[in-house]
Amino acid sequence: MRIETIAVHAGHDVDPATAAVTPPIHLSTTFAREADGSYRAGFLYSRYANPNRTALELCLADLEAGAAAAMFSSGSAATMTLLQAIGPNSHVVIPDDAYFGTLKLVRDVFGPWGMELSAVDMTKVGEVERAMRPNTKLVWIETPSNPLLRVADIAAIAAIAHKGGAICAVDNTWGTPVLQRPLDIGADISMHATTKYLGGHSDVLGGALIAKENNELFQRVTSIQMTGGAVPSPFECWLTMRGIRTLPLRVQAQSATAAALAQFLSNHPLVEAVHYPGLPSHSAHAVARKQMSAFGGMMSVQAGRDRGESIAIASRLQLFTQATSLGGTESLIEHRASVEGPGTRAPENLLRVSVGLEHIEDLKEDFDRALNG
Ligand SMILES: *Cc1c(COP(=O)(O)O)cnc(C)c1O
Repeated sequence: MRIETIAVHAGHDVDPATAAVTPPIHLSTTFAREADGSYRAGFLYSRYANPNRTALELCLADLEAGAAAAMFSSGSAATMTLLQAIGPNSHVVIPDDAYFGTLKLVRDVFGPWGMELSAVDMTKVGEVERAMRPNTKLVWIETPSNPLLRVADIAAIAAIAHKGGAICAVDNTWGTPVLQRPLDIGADISMHATTKYLGGHSDVLGGALIAKENNELFQRVTSIQMTGGAVPSPFECWLTMRGIRTLPLRVQAQSATAAALAQFLSNHPLVEAVHYPGLPSHSAHAVARKQMSAFGGMMSVQAGRDRGESIAIASRLQLFTQATSLGGTESLIEHRASVEGPGTRAPENLLRVSVGLEHIEDLKEDFDRALNG
């Protein structure tokens, strides 16, 4: 089945109890036991499993053709659980431009528990190879990356991880299951902040781990999920599932609009640079073409002579709200250097854009007006 069909049907049948077409939300935290001690639908207590979460997990696994999936209360909780499953005294290779929260988890939360890390430039496969150690358990990829939209070669890096006895996990939040399929090209785990494109409406936090195989490592993941309980509520699962129903259509529209906007801005005399993997001028356009079916709704734009001018341009935009996060129906823009603070690697005039579902001509006109002051 194609992903548009999977997104609509996976994890959902007409409700057997009521014939409701739209799935009910099961708020009950506890489930009745039969006289023989069994549980009719296999549910016992909501931290272990809940009908809404189970349905969502089945759907997530189907979206990337994984063997299993586990759902968490945020993207960061999903990452944290994988790191807990990897265990102490292990070494992790991570991109030097990884999502700030991911880097912070590995370094500041797990460092004191004996986790070592090497932060490398993942656009250079040789750097990953050189970083491998005997106790390397995890090679973490994030592509395209934040905020420069750098692209890492998933297949090549996964092969290096496996050669060194490590697993390869990909933060596929920006790629989405629609455009990029890490499990099909060598990765063992695909992670999503479902807060972004899967939820898709900027109204629900969540995170997922999708596994190629339901192996011993992934059973540790689900055991930590059930025991630790960093799980989403039934309503949050329901909202995320509702978002997934339109994921393929939204992502295809956002990709097409972003590609046209990137083209327009890269030809604009008042724009210094556009970072978008779909532009032939992008340094890793060839790698992106190899592993993505389109190039997504995220881009970064360098405009303005300095920080002040760049922020002024963002403030003059009327259709792009200045806010963090991404993947919703509305376009957002963010001055990364001031959000990240001291030590940021983001250029002073860089604006990160999440393209929404507005009409391309309206977005172009808005940018043109804002750039011209
Ligand atoms: C937002 C984001 C996360 C973290 O997700 P939360 O739901 O905010 O915890 C991780 N990775 C990427 C690429 C993200 O964009």
